[in-house]
Amino acid sequence: MLKEITAKSMLHHHERTFATNWDANIYRGCRHNCRYCFAQYSHKYLGGNDFFEDIYVKSNAPQILDKELSRAKWKKFPVNVCGVSDCYQPAEVEYKLMPAVIESFIRNRNPLVISTKSTLPVRDIHLIEELNKVAQVSMMTSVSTLDERKRILIEPEAAPTLERLKMLREFRKIGCQTSVLFMPVIPLISDDQENLDSIFRITKEYDLGSIEVWPLHLHGRTRGVFFAFLKKHFPELLNKYRELYTSGNVSDTYRIDLQQRVCDLREKYQLFGRYRQTPPSETDPVQLTLF
Ligand code: SF4
Repeated sequence: MLKEITAKSMLHHHERTFATNWDANIYRGCRHNCRYCFAQYSHKYLGGNDFFEDIYVKSNAPQILDKELSRAKWKKFPVNVCGVSDCYQPAEVEYKLMPAVIESFIRNRNPLVISTKSTLPVRDIHLIEELNKVAQVSMMTSVSTLDERKRILIEPEAAPTLERLKMLREFRKIGCQTSVLFMPVIPLISDDQENLDSIFRITKEYDLGSIEVWPLHLHGRTRGVFFAFLKKHFPELLNKYRELYTSGNVSDTYRIDLQQRVCDLREKYQLFGRYRQTPPSETDPVQLTLF
């Protein structure tokens, strides 16, 4: 179900810091259908049943953003337009809200953050380039595995991982700040050394600037959805996951081991993180952790 709704306001301040403290979500719900999606909890506030199917489209988002970004007291903080759901998800092909959103950022010379698993931003590259001349644009893509057979199971409606990284390279070429979000590293599924090394290597080869890494968290509703996914596709891992996830966070032993492997890769490729991150909590379970 796709449902147009009218937003009363768009800019939303949150305490967790990642790139910025300001979000503006163009859509609610996301058809990318990532089995580990941490944002599913957000749907209960809107009465939606299925985060992956019931998509709310804020059709007046560009107009409201224009009003809010032009207020005299607004301090031109960077705004992440993909905070809770992907602003370049499949619905954007039909609704084409992002060009008008970017135009409002251009008019107001306001920094923009886009974090996506789509290659659709290439459609708007000229607008993004124009904005980047007057206010910084930070482009990010999040990835979990270069193994396409696994990727199709884990993130079925997102773009192929390598295509996302190539897309990011195009934005790097036009001068945007770019970052790879290796999120999440999925224990026993996407944490093999070949996958970790390859994602670091490509990030370096494509000159994508920085890489953030954190392991899967399974808070709240995400836990049930992910365990159902495991039962269907990786039943042999169920018991190991029960051991690894006695809470929403992965075990300390796993986390510390991964941290060391990531440190080694940072050293090898001279690639570091850019953003200060705050840890997740059960009530605001955004998947941020700390390497
Ligand atoms: S792209 Fe992000 S918001 Fe969309 S389903 Fe995947 S993790 Fe959730």
